[in-house]
Amino acid sequence: MNIIRTVREMREMSDAFRQAQEVIGFVPTMGFLHEGHLVLMREARRICDRLVVSIFVNPTQFGKNEDFGRYPKDTEGDLTKCSQEAVDILFLPSVEEIYPEGFQTRVQVLDLPRHLCGLSRPGHFDGVATVVAKLFNITKPHCAVFGQKDYQQLAVISRMVSDLNLDVTIVGVPTVREPDGLAMSSRNSYLSLGERQEALCLKRALDLAGELVAGGEGDPLTVQRAMEALVSEMPSARIDYIRVCDPVTLDPVTRIEGEVLVALAVHIGKTRLIDNAVLSGVRRDPRSTRPTDERRTS
Ligand code: AMP
Repeated sequence: MNIIRTVREMREMSDAFRQAQEVIGFVPTMGFLHEGHLVLMREARRICDRLVVSIFVNPTQFGKNEDFGRYPKDTEGDLTKCSQEAVDILFLPSVEEIYPEGFQTRVQVLDLPRHLCGLSRPGHFDGVATVVAKLFNITKPHCAVFGQKDYQQLAVISRMVSDLNLDVTIVGVPTVREPDGLAMSSRNSYLSLGERQEALCLKRALDLAGELVAGGEGDPLTVQRAMEALVSEMPSARIDYIRVCDPVTLDPVTRIEGEVLVALAVHIGKTRLIDNAVLSGVRRDPRSTRPTDERRTS
């Protein structure tokens, strides 16, 4: 595994791969790697010839009172995991390398960030879109792999790639979970033992939504309220949002019909956690009240 810290060297390496007709797969991360990240790497490895992984804790996607300064780090552990996954290039730029003095450009997707996490984290998705656009230009991938755990991020990046005609294929990978259902996240390391148990309420709330929708519930507010009641039972939980929305536009839905995204963000103590599921609502024949389709996915 080759560790590269400068933009110049990274571009030269990607140019060489491209000249050799090799397909470059890219997985951007903020490090403190867990199985969720490794699954993305394996997917990129499976569909590409070369695997490039970046670890960069991007300051522009953190708000003033967020955890940029204390984001968990384990450089040694990350290096071991990357070499075990046969990563070809680990790109480890400094903040100055990505944002040299005078930097003043921003990539902004307009509508998708006006929902869900974008409301409580103003500017977050501008930071994400900007750094991902830069990383694409530096690593020049044919294909980039992202987790559906960060559903809105995946939607924003897919939109940016389409809107800017970027020549990269975006691949989404389902959320990887702990055996008890908690979505893996670097931020889980902030949780105390008690909070770790309470954090299971996110997945339980999604499961409850799944049961209600599979049972024919068509009112998003009823689903949201049931989820809120479940989460509110946890003493350390503070709900940021629980929403049933359109999986493409992220607009709230007024009826659950066809596919919907159920997404939530909950503070457990001081740690903000997110999770989501795509559910298939019961389709109703417009001429009767009889359900015509009873599929459900998660
Ligand atoms: P991060 O290091 O948190 O910025 O995440 C880097 C990439 O890993 C993003 O595409 C995330 O969506 C993805 N990711 C993080 N956690 C998971 C998970 N539990 N399952 C699948 N992908 C994940």
